[in-house]
Amino acid sequence: MGTGFARLWRLAIPCADDAGDRRELLSLRQLPSGTPRLQRLRELTQNVYSGAFSFRRNWLAFVALVLIFLGLGATLGSWLQSLNTPAWLLGFIMMFPGVVVARLWVAWAMRRLGGRAAEVVDAFLEEGICPTCAYNLAGVMSGEEHNALVACSECGARWRRDRVRRVVQEETDTAREPWSLRAAMRNAGARIVSMEGVDDLGRTTVFVRQLDLAGVEKAATGERQERVRRARRRLAAVGRWSRALLGLLIVPFAAVLAWSILRRPLASLGMADAFHAFAVLLYLWWIVVLLRSDVGRRGPKRRALFLDESLCPACASDLGPADADGWRDCPDCRTCWKAGTGAEGPA
Ligand SMILES: [Zn+2]
Ligand SMILES: [Zn+2]
Repeated sequence: MGTGFARLWRLAIPCADDAGDRRELLSLRQLPSGTPRLQRLRELTQNVYSGAFSFRRNWLAFVALVLIFLGLGATLGSWLQSLNTPAWLLGFIMMFPGVVVARLWVAWAMRRLGGRAAEVVDAFLEEGICPTCAYNLAGVMSGEEHNALVACSECGARWRRDRVRRVVQEETDTAREPWSLRAAMRNAGARIVSMEGVDDLGRTTVFVRQLDLAGVEKAATGERQERVRRARRRLAAVGRWSRALLGLLIVPFAAVLAWSILRRPLASLGMADAFHAFAVLLYLWWIVVLLRSDVGRRGPKRRALFLDESLCPACASDLGPADADGWRDCPDCRTCWKAGTGAEGPA
């Protein structure tokens, strides 16, 4: 297995550092987490990576994969059958080419995401974290100030000094949370419910979820708390009909199953009905999850109502005052917003 194949096999998006050396972004398993800003970086990177699995982008490859899977499996299968291979081994071996091809396909799809590497690199450097190893760059920023490039002491990648915006030693050097079940569940959940969006400069960011806004409101005080509360209340109504409609689509499935159990006498119910009852509960749970989700909350309404309250539409922090051209920076998540009509700075 040469280095060429090993590279083909790796699940990471290729990128280049500012010295022009070829590197790889952090893999999904290495992403930082633990504080709100690290969590944003994680979700942003996860969202970029998830493009590798999107069916819409990859459906042709998916069809090809199925054909290869069938073709290779069938050819190999008939050949092995002529050698009198036992059935269990035959099944296992026939699966193998498909699994290898699927893995290679995902790796290849990640290579194709190279065009989006710049977004991730940007976001990491703005937060002072090395995009290729998650090392906190604060430690290396102080030395050799005359150098335009800083070299990460962990992985050697070199980055332009002026791209590293936040220099904070508050996190551990590797910016990685120790493993815990709670963190693992939260991070797995973030892959499903994370909201990707863009700021007014067109840069990718992650929007805070409605459920998390409650925590933001609780942490705020005085007049800011009042503004967060108003934004949260108004955002609650945004996308309500989309969520209700999607929820309604699930109702018939639950109703048919429930009816198949309820219309029969209790004594005749068996094990299969227990499974059906469980499925009904599952459907109902889906509806609850959907209604509590942020489906329909990414659009321009969100942006407008947050800007009305002088809050960052991405993270709900207080926006700074507008510059001469009407641009307002978020001091926390580094997004930029063009002040809308009627948007005033915090008093
Ligand atoms: Zn590094
Ligand atoms: Zn923000």
